[in-house]
Amino acid sequence: MSGVTRRSVLAGSAAAALGATADPARAAAPPIGKAGPGIYRYRIGSFEVTALYDGIWYRPIGKDFIRDVPFAEVEHALDAAFMPHDKLTTPFTTLIVNTGQKLVLLDTGTGGQIASTAGMIVANLAAAGVAPKDIDQIVISHFHPDHINGIKDKDNNLIFPNAEIMVPDAEWAFWMDDANMNAAPAAMKETFRNQRRIFSGIAKRVARFAPGKEVAPGILTLAAPGHTPGHTVFAVHSGSESLMVLSDTAQHPAVFARHPDWQASFDVDGRETVATRKKLFDRAAADHMLVTGYHFPFPALGHLLKTAGGYEHVPVEWQTTL
Ligand SMILES: [Zn+2]
Repeated sequence: MSGVTRRSVLAGSAAAALGATADPARAAAPPIGKAGPGIYRYRIGSFEVTALYDGIWYRPIGKDFIRDVPFAEVEHALDAAFMPHDKLTTPFTTLIVNTGQKLVLLDTGTGGQIASTAGMIVANLAAAGVAPKDIDQIVISHFHPDHINGIKDKDNNLIFPNAEIMVPDAEWAFWMDDANMNAAPAAMKETFRNQRRIFSGIAKRVARFAPGKEVAPGILTLAAPGHTPGHTVFAVHSGSESLMVLSDTAQHPAVFARHPDWQASFDVDGRETVATRKKLFDRAAADHMLVTGYHFPFPALGHLLKTAGGYEHVPVEWQTTL
């Protein structure tokens, strides 16, 4: 390096990284100040799937976040996931499946009613070229607010005015039972009240299904209980291709795929959650299945690899053509 020291090279690259330029005119463009739309589109056989990003919530957590695990161990895992110790990174991705006959929306996002950093579904639908009135069918995985609140806006108007809403029978039976609501701890009562708000006045639009039902041609429902009693996952099949929609079988994979034995405080039945997670993840890993998870990093699509202690989520590469 004649005349050029390592230090000056580093200083130069640091300046370049900071956007310094010799031409002042080129530095005059103002910052745009907003991000691009969160849409990712891919094919499963002849189906077209559109992943819609609803945004992200940094969910407050305490020392009781994982049952029966010392918090120091949890902190270590959060460090390994580059997450803070007091919040769980919780992104939300819903899916539209265009089966060729119907537009089916799997879960509805937060409806802008959970965090100011989420509630982007309608804007992203517009960016994806889909009008809310064009959604024919909504299929719900479970009744937690981040999955059902997008049925209605905060003023209780339907966001998808023409959609039939299909819900798991066991979810309806558990959460709409007033005896269960009355017996629930105070914090959980809010979840019950929210479900009554969302489903009130729309009973004639709501159809219940039992797991095993094909809710639309090529979209099979499978029981995945634990996180909630009627928690449901979806197998989407077209031609020789398939996609496993894992719903909340695991929340963020950097925490729960790596630690499949962990029971989160918000799992209704922790032991059952773990059993369901391992069963589905083992199958997905063994069969090299393409999977998507509602709380996986956007576009929430990839594969699961079995590791010594758990699983690793391997994201797909972003494709620019279908
Ligand atoms: Zn969720």
